[in-house]
Amino acid sequence: MIKINNITKSFGQLEVLKGMTTEIRKGEVVAIIGPSGSGKSTLLRCMNLLEIPTTGSIIIDGQDITAPKADVLKIRQKIGMVFQHFHLFPHMTVLNNLTYAPIKVKGMSKAQAETKAKELLNRVGLSDKADVYPSRLSGGQKQRVAIARSLVMEPEIMLFDEPTSALDPEMVKEVLEVMKGLAHTGMTMAIVTHEMRFAEEVSDRILFIDHGQIIEETPPKEFFQNPQSERAKQFLEKVR
Ligand code: ADP
Ligand code: MG
Repeated sequence: MIKINNITKSFGQLEVLKGMTTEIRKGEVVAIIGPSGSGKSTLLRCMNLLEIPTTGSIIIDGQDITAPKADVLKIRQKIGMVFQHFHLFPHMTVLNNLTYAPIKVKGMSKAQAETKAKELLNRVGLSDKADVYPSRLSGGQKQRVAIARSLVMEPEIMLFDEPTSALDPEMVKEVLEVMKGLAHTGMTMAIVTHEMRFAEEVSDRILFIDHGQIIEETPPKEFFQNPQSERAKQFLEKVR
């Protein structure tokens, strides 16, 4: 589904990604972990062209999204992204947050979009919040709305950048449960997270990143029980 071929990314003099190569298969759930500043967000943002790699290429579903003629809007429709800070539209109800893009971008009818939106609100456990404004929601509820809002566009890939890092501890679980449910539907997912237990339980593979490089790429059991690199050992000692 996603092929990342030796990508680098520099901001001015600073090389943030130093040649990363990996693949994510259809239906695979990959957890991206590593120290702060190691390039996790930048890697994720390259996957939906919020950042453009300086060199190298990214192929999604057979299409080179880094080619100069790539249709960025079309590519982004295939890929949902959920951020640490929800980015909901504050002046729209929850329902309208969900229906806005399908109507505007996909040309869905209002009725159709609302039916789909309500289905998804139900799926994330928020059927009763359709008519409220985001300011009335807890952080966990906001993040579940943000996930539903991405899913309403029927993406083939979902990217998550520390989706629970801004939440109070008691709200982390409800969001992780929604993500786990999504993983079980066969969604292709790349998740930057500090939730090690979640990563171990839900992911098919861990990408451990440090200083702009993929240092380890292994099944979660192997990674957590027997990390190969000194850097991964040190990182795990700090976070566990
Ligand atoms: P992580 O998500 O692993 O914490 P990031 O990918 O956000 O790391 O950042 C990696 C490095 O790139 C950091 O040193 C950060 O300051 C730098 N960086 C990220 N985005 C930009 C940007 N738009 N301009 C300049 N430097 C950036
Ligand atoms: Mg980050």
